[in-house]
Amino acid sequence: MIRVGIGYDLHPLVESRRLILGGVHIEYAKGLMGHSDADALTHAIIDALLGASALGAIGEHFPETDPQYQNANSIKLLEKTVELVHKAGFKVVNVDANIIADEPRLGPYVEEICATLAEPLQIAPDCVSVKPRTNERFGPEGKGEAISTQAIVLIESR
Ligand SMILES: [Zn+2]
Repeated sequence: MIRVGIGYDLHPLVESRRLILGGVHIEYAKGLMGHSDADALTHAIIDALLGASALGAIGEHFPETDPQYQNANSIKLLEKTVELVHKAGFKVVNVDANIIADEPRLGPYVEEICATLAEPLQIAPDCVSVKPRTNERFGPEGKGEAISTQAIVLIESR
């Protein structure tokens, strides 16, 4: 059996935060605001994996009110999510994701992001696709106020 899932996330960009996307530190004057490390790309992928497995939403598994997730490394949360997917009888086949932000330029980081995400997903790096794109100066992503992300995943029976 195969199943698909869709995920979305958005975090505001603020000063005095490190920018982490897909577990990779991006050199930039601003970072994403959030309870954990605010890794919007990894969060969208977690959301999609939970969706494909019909296991509920990310907030139910890793609640923002729980102090153990303060500044949490989202890659660790992705590892836990993949464990849940495996327990539900599935394995990950591939992931495709969009990062929507006019700034910073993310192209040079894509290869490292795919390699970093492939490990907790337990798939080959060429089964992870990450596509940065701009929002043509429209909306919060176009004005440097936020970064949003979208992910779609395919899982199949183990
Ligand atoms: Zn998030």
